[in-house]
Amino acid sequence: TNVEDGSLALELDRSHVFHSWSAQASLNPIVIAGASGCEVWDFSGKRYLDFSSQLVNTNIGHSHPKVVAAIQKQAALLATVAPSHANLARGNAARKILEHAGPGFEKVFFTNGGADANENAIRMARLTTGRDTVLTTYRSYHGSTGAAIAATGDPRRVPNQFSRGHVHFFGPFPYRSEFWASSPEEECQRALHHLRRVIECEGPTSIAAILLETIPGTAGVIVPPPGWLAGVRNLCDEFGIVMICDEVMCGFGRTGDWFAWQNKVLNPEAIVPDLVTFAKGVNGGYVPAGGVIISPKIAHAFDERAFPGGLTYSGHPLAMAAIVANIGAYEEEKIIENAARIGNGVLGPGLRKLAERHTIIGEVRGLGLFWALDLVADAKTRQPLATATVARIKASLMANGLLPFTTDNRIHVVPPCTITEQEVETALAIYDKVLAAITV
Ligand code: PLP
Repeated sequence: TNVEDGSLALELDRSHVFHSWSAQASLNPIVIAGASGCEVWDFSGKRYLDFSSQLVNTNIGHSHPKVVAAIQKQAALLATVAPSHANLARGNAARKILEHAGPGFEKVFFTNGGADANENAIRMARLTTGRDTVLTTYRSYHGSTGAAIAATGDPRRVPNQFSRGHVHFFGPFPYRSEFWASSPEEECQRALHHLRRVIECEGPTSIAAILLETIPGTAGVIVPPPGWLAGVRNLCDEFGIVMICDEVMCGFGRTGDWFAWQNKVLNPEAIVPDLVTFAKGVNGGYVPAGGVIISPKIAHAFDERAFPGGLTYSGHPLAMAAIVANIGAYEEEKIIENAARIGNGVLGPGLRKLAERHTIIGEVRGLGLFWALDLVADAKTRQPLATATVARIKASLMANGLLPFTTDNRIHVVPPCTITEQEVETALAIYDKVLAAITV
């Protein structure tokens, strides 16, 4: 029976599967049997509205028929190919990505996911500048491989600090300012001053790259004030530093734009980075894929000189077919427009209303379908809510049929970009009910 399959799945997992980021003994994962659109279900038939998009990657929703069909078709034609051979799916995927990245980019290097996209962007920056140091913010996550975890600012870096060449700084965060700022403008100005001082103190000629999540995601959907991206771009230009935007989480529709750096509120000056890393939403996570979008200058630096990097599955045909179909569906079904309309018109205002009703919500931050509820034990001091309380909230949300994304003292509200107004209303009612019942 289905219930027996569910028990078997859990038993096999607990006996044989080694999990990410966890002490293994105490895990009790839910078993997901299947998924469609914005819903997943377990073997007992219990359904959950997926407001996590798994790890913020099923931007197109689950089991999108066009993407599934494209993978099936590609599997029958050419399931795998060496990266040195040209193939149509890879060329089309690169062309489609570049079309939406717009002017300022010429080529795409494909990887298996986000971490190795950052590894290769860092490698390109180091090789083209002849410099070693990579500057990143403390509140960041860039992946769990060698240089990517060393670039990461959050505490997952600490037990992994084996390689050199990484220096961290504080980016802007008006709600929890490190700079005693009293307005976003002041926060931006002071964070830029701090970054300039870090560059000067590290020695500008030693710095290869500033690697930034355009909007730090896992760290709390920390939308930077207007002026921040342009300020970083200016510092990069002044000191000959490569600017890398990590759009692994915030790219491909999450903010209601193709890419977050293209958002007019975030980047009114319309600055363009030198390299952009992506993964996740590029194909909804159906087949692992990531990559680096490369400016002409950096692409051409390797015209005569070999690029010393590669992966067996760089541009894997199944992943590439999924990218082409995913971007095609975004265009045909106006999925980016849906994310912007539902996100800014329904979800954002709905979350702000929740914050008026529940003092436990210290701040609502975000844009498009990329939101965080910063939960506090005390609205005045902004003391983060205890993680044990967040765990109770998470359990209660799940009991009520919503699969949430929680981390530290926050709930990240990150549904697929195909979400409907009705589904948002259902989710808002569940958050409201659960938060009303919680005792701090
Ligand atoms: N960069 C950012 C901004 C991310 O959010 C993540 C994953 O969450 C990564 C990089 C790493 O991507 P992957 O897990 O595909 O290696």
